[in-house]
Amino acid sequence: MDFNDSPEQAVFRSEVRGWLEENATPKKGVGDSLFGRMSTSEDDFVARAQAWQKKKADAGWAALHWPEAYGGRGASPIETVIYREEEGQFDVPQGVFSIGLGMCGPVLMTHADEETKQRLLPSMITGEKIWCQLFSEPEAGSDLAGLRTRAVRDGDDWVINGQKVWTSGAHYCDYGILVTRHDPTLPKHKGLTFFWLDMKSPGIEIKPIKQISGSANFNEVFFTNVRIPDSQRLGEVGEGWQVSLTTLMNERLAVGGASPPDYQELFELALQTELEDGPAIADPSVRSKLADWYVESEGLRLINARTMTALGRGETPGPQASIAKVVSASKQQEISAYGIDLMELGGAVLDGGPGAGLFQQAYLGSPGIRIAGGSDEILRNIIAERVLQLPGDIRVDRDGPFSDIPSGSS
Ligand SMILES: Cc1cc2nc3c(=O)[nH]c(=O)nc-3n(C[C@H](O)[C@H](O)[C@H](O)COP(=O)(O)OP(=O)(O)OC[C@H]3O[C@@H](n4cnc5c(N)ncnc54)[C@H](O)[C@@H]3O)c2cc1C
Repeated sequence: MDFNDSPEQAVFRSEVRGWLEENATPKKGVGDSLFGRMSTSEDDFVARAQAWQKKKADAGWAALHWPEAYGGRGASPIETVIYREEEGQFDVPQGVFSIGLGMCGPVLMTHADEETKQRLLPSMITGEKIWCQLFSEPEAGSDLAGLRTRAVRDGDDWVINGQKVWTSGAHYCDYGILVTRHDPTLPKHKGLTFFWLDMKSPGIEIKPIKQISGSANFNEVFFTNVRIPDSQRLGEVGEGWQVSLTTLMNERLAVGGASPPDYQELFELALQTELEDGPAIADPSVRSKLADWYVESEGLRLINARTMTALGRGETPGPQASIAKVVSASKQQEISAYGIDLMELGGAVLDGGPGAGLFQQAYLGSPGIRIAGGSDEILRNIIAERVLQLPGDIRVDRDGPFSDIPSGSS
């Protein structure tokens, strides 16, 4: 394992850092005010994200890993990770384009015709058009192949009826990728077909779901006789599972990083907090917790170094991304809960006090992080089966007709 940048990577990192320093504001520490994070309305956030994406696109830093032929930079996977690490040090809007650039763009590049690619990909890079992922349904999440949204062929069109759920950003997105069931008489993984679609198509109804944080980032999406031209199909009829798998692989890789508050932020908070019997940092139980999370953070740093080494050698990282996600998502939840406890009564204030809402915001968001992109249990199954070589889950519903599988709603 190599912990240091190669000379070329160090040059790339310093170029990235130089551009970010000229064009963005570094993140502030826990003691400084981060006001605005909680109170910024979603409209402002999306507009701010679009402005930042445009700035990156103008300077050639958007869609780093995309090929140059489609407006990307043609950067290596390791350069993409370096950029992400450096951008993470700056206070810039994150997340609005990750589904589009990370999943929808690559799936179009692989399966769409050239005219479609030239028409749709440039506006994805500049942030002018935003994309969402219409996969999960009330009866299909971890077991995505259990989805029931129907696609029925009608001339040159497909007619779509059904429901998706948890669709991040659907209420502000322009386009989406959609997986449907075209033939319920086939086994569950075989009767699926994949499309891209215009989110303004007649028959689409979007209902935002209010979350515990007060915001409503994801949605229920209902389809009533929505028509999609066959020319918007991605992959062959019946290849929807294979097409979905390529996007899910990208998702698992994209969600590996840890977001704050981490060990460092908790350390700063403990330095600043006075408990009844003295400074929190002097309290043995606080120090013991800090030591535990320091060890976990170091473990994650080493796992990430292993991933970076594999990328640097041109290898595909193994299931260690699953290990990093399981550990970092629950660590974030535990650290944010502990930080709130340390603040005592102040911990109940959502956007004030030390950290100005950083710990509270993370506490409310972290259960979702433990589910999105593969829940803890699913990732543990992957680790058990692919790392530890334990016997696989028993799957009894793989081979018979999908229509024979009982539905919770029928
Ligand atoms: C913040 C957030 C954003 C999201 N954004 C999107 C999006 O943009 N587009 C989209 O399509 N979806 C999105 N999702 C949905 C997400 O993909 C699903 O929530 C996830 O796949 C889990 O599915 P589920 O919620 O149906 O839970 P289920 O799959 O029903 O799981 C329920 C529980 O059972 C456990 N479980 C399930 N199967 C097994 C098993 N085989 N072994 C052991 N335990 C098991 C799970 O771990 C979980 O604890 C988002 C979710 C979140 C939280």
